[in-house]
Amino acid sequence: MSTLNENITKLDGFLERFRDGGIMNRIAGQDVFGADGVFQNTSPVDKSYICDVAHGTAADIDAAANAASDAFAEWRDMPALQRKKILIKIAEGIEARAEEIALCECWDTGQTYKFMSKAALRGAENFRYFADQVVQARDGQQLQSPTLMNVTTRKPIGPVGVITPWNTPFMLSTWKIAPALAAGCTVVHKPAEASPLTARLLVEIAEAAGLPPGVLNTVNGFGEGAGKALCEHPKIKAIAFVGESATGSLITKQGADTLKRNHLELGGKNPVIVFDDADLDRALDAVIFMIYSINGERCTSSSRLLVQDTIREEFEAKLIARVNNIKVGHPLDPKTEIGPLVTEEHFNKVTSYFEIAKEDGATIAAGGVTVGDEGYFIRPTLFTNANNQMRIAQEEIFGPVLTSIPFRTEEEALEMANDIDYGLTGYVWTNDLTRALRFTEALEAGMIWVNSENVRHLPTPFGGVKASGIGRDGGDWSFEFYMEQKHIGFATGQHKITKLGAL
Ligand code: NAD
Repeated sequence: MSTLNENITKLDGFLERFRDGGIMNRIAGQDVFGADGVFQNTSPVDKSYICDVAHGTAADIDAAANAASDAFAEWRDMPALQRKKILIKIAEGIEARAEEIALCECWDTGQTYKFMSKAALRGAENFRYFADQVVQARDGQQLQSPTLMNVTTRKPIGPVGVITPWNTPFMLSTWKIAPALAAGCTVVHKPAEASPLTARLLVEIAEAAGLPPGVLNTVNGFGEGAGKALCEHPKIKAIAFVGESATGSLITKQGADTLKRNHLELGGKNPVIVFDDADLDRALDAVIFMIYSINGERCTSSSRLLVQDTIREEFEAKLIARVNNIKVGHPLDPKTEIGPLVTEEHFNKVTSYFEIAKEDGATIAAGGVTVGDEGYFIRPTLFTNANNQMRIAQEEIFGPVLTSIPFRTEEEALEMANDIDYGLTGYVWTNDLTRALRFTEALEAGMIWVNSENVRHLPTPFGGVKASGIGRDGGDWSFEFYMEQKHIGFATGQHKITKLGAL
């Protein structure tokens, strides 16, 4: 693997074009300036300027939605094998530019090269996976009734909007855009304002792979401008959204007048429950990985540790030692485990919980401090002596910050795990099979792993319950969102039709 200095040199080469030309919107295969000028993009590593970015508004969204609408019929009707080939070529293009994507993503978001080098390749995997589904995507069923042969087919819903957040933005965009394209939809993508670089790389790669102009359009800008306009646009039939729960509510409201179909992947405050009969060494590894990897800026992170009181002292002692050992540093250093938080605003939010924890009466057992003053770095943090009612236990902090809460019985653990607005993931550590069955049945979460960290398998459903979202991604669930079901009934004979008004 390259060294920090080698990575910095390579990155500098990759960024040159952005410094010179900025990032424009991409509409119908053309670079277009934002209707409202530009905004500046900076790096969380040292607050330095990266580039100007087109400030898209409702006018740009309108142009992009029209482009997506114009391109829809050709893309929908292109033979499936041809569309499949283009998606595979996009995957190959991502693989060929994986290093560029990873380095740009690290600089733009503060995510570490250790994790982003894999995230770029997971983006390629998403395209390969959905390329394989293209041919069957429209298949339906045949449902015989006494008088009719009923058949179902699926049709792409039309042009769709994809609105993505800044945490692992490249991988998350592919997660939405790959199935949308595989279904036969065209797309207007509004990436997060804090992380525009790799969205630009994605549209370039897609067009170079032969995606016709207008099938994927990228409009940069802010939520209240470009994002809102996308939700309100009448030619956009559905919005695939990933972001905060409060924004999810806005997406729903903004789409009401045009009866938008929305898929919402929202926040989480996910419990990891460690019982005293578990393999505690493996549980410790997983607990640490699931909150301190990806800077803790991860919707599925296990940010609430519920640990049985019989093992709490020993488990927390080991946890503190490991957390204090985590390497915080330059995200392009391949050895760095935690980089800076994405923006000043987010840094201020995360660090405000250090005071909140103290006010609530919890203990800062590790971290709780910022690092240097160049960028938005903090030490990974562990709060102990907490209870489930504290703000540090109830609110999504979205950083490398873990709250540990003891429990006595299985019933108490379940009650605490469910006593929260969110319901994205849950992690259960026990070697008692019956307990695992009982507990997972009652745990309110869209996804649960038993004796494992989160390991994504693309055919499985991904999504949350309660304030963590509506709808599912993955496998055929993605197509259910990007496609419309159509039923056609063919009369198989001359069945009796009730006559009205006949003599
Ligand atoms: P955010 O909600 O602030 O922004 C997400 C996107 O929505 C951005 O592109 C933003 O510009 C846009 N946006 C903001 N207001 C809008 C509006 N009124 N209309 C349309 N678009 C609007 O979220 P964030 O801070 O960028 O990302 C972090 C959040 O994302 C966390 O809550 C995290 O849990 C969540 N997330 C969830 C998942 C999941 O799969 N459930 C995955 C990743 C991140």
